[in-house]
Amino acid sequence: MKAVADDIQGLKKELAETKVALTDARKVIGKLEKDLEAERKQQNGFVVIGTKPVPMGIVNWMNDYGMPWEVFWCYEHNQWVDELDTTFPYHHDNFCPKCRRSA
Ligand SMILES: [Zn+2]
Repeated sequence: MKAVADDIQGLKKELAETKVALTDARKVIGKLEKDLEAERKQQNGFVVIGTKPVPMGIVNWMNDYGMPWEVFWCYEHNQWVDELDTTFPYHHDNFCPKCRRSA
C-alpha cells in the first residue's frame, strides 16, 4: 500500500507540474498570437520595395515628392523619418523620432 500511495503522490505532483507547464505554454501561445496579429496588421500598412517593407505614410511621401524611399530613411538610427524638414524638398534634414530626441 505504501508503494501505491507513493505512486499516487508522485502522479499528483506530476499533474501539478504539468498544469503549470500548460498554463505557461498557453501564455506563450497567447503572446505569439498577439504578435502574429500585430504583424499581419502592420503588413497591411506596408508596401515591399525590393526587400524593404515601406510604410504607407512613406510611400505617400515618395509619391508626393517623386523621391526614392532612401530619402525618408534615417541611416544614422536605422529607422523611418516621421518628420520632414520645413524646407523639404529643397533641404533634406528629415527627422526620425531618435533624431528629434537627440536634437
Ligand atoms: Zn535619426
